[in-house]
Amino acid sequence: MRLILLGPPGAGKGTQAQVLVEELEVPHISTGDMFRAAMKAGTELGRQAKSYVDKGELVPDSVTIGLVRERLALPDCRKGFLLDGFPRTVAQAEALDELLAGLDMALDAVVNIQVDPEVLVNRLSNRRTCRNCGAVYHLLHKPPASPGKCDACGGELYQRPDDHEATVRNRLEVYTAQTRPLIDFYRRKGLLHSVDGEAEVEQVTVEIRRELGL
Ligand code: AMP
Repeated sequence: MRLILLGPPGAGKGTQAQVLVEELEVPHISTGDMFRAAMKAGTELGRQAKSYVDKGELVPDSVTIGLVRERLALPDCRKGFLLDGFPRTVAQAEALDELLAGLDMALDAVVNIQVDPEVLVNRLSNRRTCRNCGAVYHLLHKPPASPGKCDACGGELYQRPDDHEATVRNRLEVYTAQTRPLIDFYRRKGLLHSVDGEAEVEQVTVEIRRELGL
């Protein structure tokens, strides 16, 4: 299955993606994770991305599209993929269409996870992420068993610099201006499935499965 998870930052795309890729046995392609890994490794890509990521701005389309083009050409994507956090602009979505056409592939579905903006500010500013495995926690609703430590792998939990409140608000504005138009873009193509992202995590998964006929 070739799938996109769409939604504002903090909607739960990463959390749902982790469950879905296991079930679908397809690679999880998160451009945010790829940029963070490149920044951590200090590569040229990481250097290019850093100033944008830190401010909550979008990395330029040319850089992001190039990254996804290379990733989708890898053999593991032949059995399908789940894109998380890409596309984020109409130009990226159009480039993805072209890219897939060139690979003789088509999208199967776009799942839009809907959450109210104020809920997102609360979620993101209380979010803690494992430095090692990327698992996510919420200080109030899903705290780790021992503070500062990942339940899954024991890694250190940290607050992503772009999860501080001022940056979160900027990311939400960027989402509204640049990413939200993709909802209509994919609705017009007949690919859009919307789910309520304010429900419990497990319930959201149930709804996504139902929408996808899994
Ligand atoms: P995420 O983990 O998906 O919230 O992404 C974190 C940050 O990475 C975003 O705030 C952007 O700075 C950058 N980023 C991730 N995906 C994209 C994309 N498709 N286009 C541009 N920038 C992106």
